Amino acid sequence: MNINQATLVIIKPDGLKKSLTGNILTRLSEMKLEIAAARVMRVSRELAAEHYRHMQDKPFFEELLKYLMGELHNRKKVLAMVYYGKDAIRKVRLLAGSTNPEEAEPTSIRGAYGRITTNGLYENVIHASENEEEAEREIKLWFKPEEIIFDIYPTEITIRNNVQEKNWLSGIVD
Ligand code: ADP
Repeated sequence: MNINQATLVIIKPDGLKKSLTGNILTRLSEMKLEIAAARVMRVSRELAAEHYRHMQDKPFFEELLKYLMGELHNRKKVLAMVYYGKDAIRKVRLLAGSTNPEEAEPTSIRGAYGRITTNGLYENVIHASENEEEAEREIKLWFKPEEIIFDIYPTEITIRNNVQEKNWLSGIVD
C-alpha cells in the first residue's frame, strides 16, 4: 500500500522498565515515517479499558488493564506516539511482530523483548494499531487535535466557558 496513514504506537510499561525506549525509537526511525505526536503519560483505568474494549470478555482483561496502567512493573507511565507516512500501519505492525511473543519473529520487537508471564499474559513491550479504523479510534482516544503536529482527522471548534477549544469532529468516534 502506498497511501499515507497514521498509526498509534505505545511503548508499554515493560518497554520503559527494560530501558528499551532508545532502541525502539531507533528501529522506528528506520521505517522512514514521521513522528506526528509524542507524550509520556499515566494511563487511567478508564483509558486502558477503552483502549482494550475489544478484549473485555477475555479472562485476562483485568491483568491487561493493570499491565497498561503500569501496575505490573511499578512504572506508571507509557510513551504514546503517532507515526505518519506511507504504509505506516503495516510497517509498524511488522516491526512489532506477532501478539504472542513466543510466536513473533525473533528479530521483531516483541520477539526479541517480549515474554509470557506466569499468569499467562503476553507482555509484548509495544502497541501498534491494527488497521486504519482502529488507528483513528485510538489516536482520537489518546491525543487531542492540538497535540498532533498536523490535522490528521477533521476537527471542530467548540466554545466552553467562553474559551475556544479544538476537538475531534464528533460523530466519528462512537
Ligand atoms: P495486538 O496488541 O497485537 O493488537 P490484541 O489487540 O489482540 O493484540 O491484544 C491486546 C493485548 O492483549 C496484547 O498486546 C497482549 O498484551 C494481550 N493479549 C492478547 N491476546 C492474549 C492472550 N491470548 N493471552 C495473553 N495476553 C494476550
